[in-house]
Amino acid sequence: MDKIKILKKYYGYTSFRPGQEEIIDSILDGNDTVGIMPTGGGKSVCYQIPALLLEGITLVVSPLISLMKDQVDALNDLGIPSAYINSSLSSKEYNKIYRNLKLGIYKIVYVAPERLENEEFIYEINNLNISQISIDEAHCVSQWGHDFRSSYLNIIKFIWQLKKKPIISAFTATATPEVREDIIYMLKIKPNVFITGFDRPNLKYIVVKGVNSTSYIKEYLKEHTGESGIIYCATRKEVDSLYGELSKRYKIGRYHAGMSDKERNENQEEFIKDNIEIMVATNAFGMGIDKSNVRFVIHSNLTKDLESYYQEAGRAGRDGLSSTCILIFNPKDIKTQRFFIENNQFGASSEIIKGKYEKLSTVINYAHTSKCIRSYVLEYFGELSVENCGNCSSCLDTRIEENITIESQKIISCIGRTKERYGINTIVSVLAGSKNASILKFKLNTQTTYGILKEYTQKEIRALMDLLVGDGYLEITTGEYPIVILTKKGKEFIKEKKEIFRKVEKIEKRVFQENMQLFEELKKIRKIIAEEENLPPYMIFSDKTLKEMSEKEPSNQEDLLKVSGVGEIKLKKYGIRFLEKIESFLKSN
Ligand code: ADP
Ligand code: ZN
Repeated sequence: MDKIKILKKYYGYTSFRPGQEEIIDSILDGNDTVGIMPTGGGKSVCYQIPALLLEGITLVVSPLISLMKDQVDALNDLGIPSAYINSSLSSKEYNKIYRNLKLGIYKIVYVAPERLENEEFIYEINNLNISQISIDEAHCVSQWGHDFRSSYLNIIKFIWQLKKKPIISAFTATATPEVREDIIYMLKIKPNVFITGFDRPNLKYIVVKGVNSTSYIKEYLKEHTGESGIIYCATRKEVDSLYGELSKRYKIGRYHAGMSDKERNENQEEFIKDNIEIMVATNAFGMGIDKSNVRFVIHSNLTKDLESYYQEAGRAGRDGLSSTCILIFNPKDIKTQRFFIENNQFGASSEIIKGKYEKLSTVINYAHTSKCIRSYVLEYFGELSVENCGNCSSCLDTRIEENITIESQKIISCIGRTKERYGINTIVSVLAGSKNASILKFKLNTQTTYGILKEYTQKEIRALMDLLVGDGYLEITTGEYPIVILTKKGKEFIKEKKEIFRKVEKIEKRVFQENMQLFEELKKIRKIIAEEENLPPYMIFSDKTLKEMSEKEPSNQEDLLKVSGVGEIKLKKYGIRFLEKIESFLKSN
């Protein structure tokens, strides 16, 4: 069978995505091959199709145990016999897999990198025909990347111990040019390299500034009920607090390193199964997630660098349907990240710390730039880019202007009247007319500016002040007790009677399309099947496939097979039930 037939039969697709065919051909010709493709670009197909066409077994090295199980379940569901070997297996399961391996039952076997050091494993593997070793998340081998794993250094040692050298293929989504070179250097190969570009046209990138992030998120969720999304926060505390705010209204879960493994796994599992719609999490969440129907990723805080941002945001829209990535920027988050840099460095050299500050500035600039932010990222990854992508907050500029001159005058005069002696929280309290202890202690309630912004919540006042800091009217001093002072620009603003505007991001209203109802019905049947099969719903069929079904309304098996994502094997397994649903829907409507 040739590769295009395999693509249709197993995966249900009729054409290759950019780069896939070239990579597959390169591997089939016996070359070591490196594929650099964005998340959702379709890396799996690039090593799985060669695995099916080559004689013998393909070993896939993958860093995450949780993901391995999903990947293997998905392959078996496609009708491709596969297994995984990692520390989660019982010795009974393990022995069974070895027996099957010797019988030549599997075409693809996922292994954790730690396993490659294991003498027994090396011995067993050396008696088998290993045609290909595929290294997933290959940037983990580089110390320059953001996810270095020392166990990845085992890979090359392992390969050197094999009697017959297999074809090596390596894949990653995040690689700056230096990481790219390092991967090749560390693996000691001379590969064909295919770089398909990092752009994710279906993702809309938005930066939001000068808002209270909780209110913004609440607004956003109101417009996007029923969609699956991830909200990232910088700290556990922020995750817990946002979770508390949202949990009464939404099907929501949380995830951070302060929770038990059990609780985290359960939440992750429920999210994958669509029982939880929204996950509020720290960056500890997501590495092991292949869920393709994530419709939005909101960062409530700044990330440590642009690579992390791009990778985390990139968890949206793997299925290719349009999805949104929002970064909410507040100047105070810069301080949090600086704190992380200063406090997580046990004996790190000043060189490394400097590097981290430089990386932090890349994501700060992303938030500040007025040019196309998609191009900004693409250029960072060393790619030529378009001037105007038409699908980011800079290019679309969907914001509305709001005049905040009066509010700004009030804030600045409050700081002036209290002689630039207080921290931001105290100033906020004065403006809001709060009666807290420190206000009473310093008799700040007798100030003429006391309570002059009482129609605003403290959080809103804080957001206004953050904006004035960001735009250079105010400055927060460093040191143990930071205070807010006026800058030259701030003082001039009062004298010169200038106006200040802020641009507020309009929340996009969801457009309801005609076939939405049928789509929702198909999602329901998918959920039922997923429960029976004990698989995540998106693995049965992706949202994209269901969307296409709801548009084409196929009435027989041949037409259903024409829908992208429906292969012969899945057609046999699930086709009838979807056809029945479509028929009954059309009858009753
Ligand atoms: P990656 O590992 O690069 O993030 P995946 O291999 O998980 O991406 O693929 C992302 C999605 O794209 C999957 O749903 C996959 O089935 C789909 N896909 C892969 N190749 C094609 C193709 N040629 N045509 C349509 N969809 C594809
Ligand atoms: Zn743009």
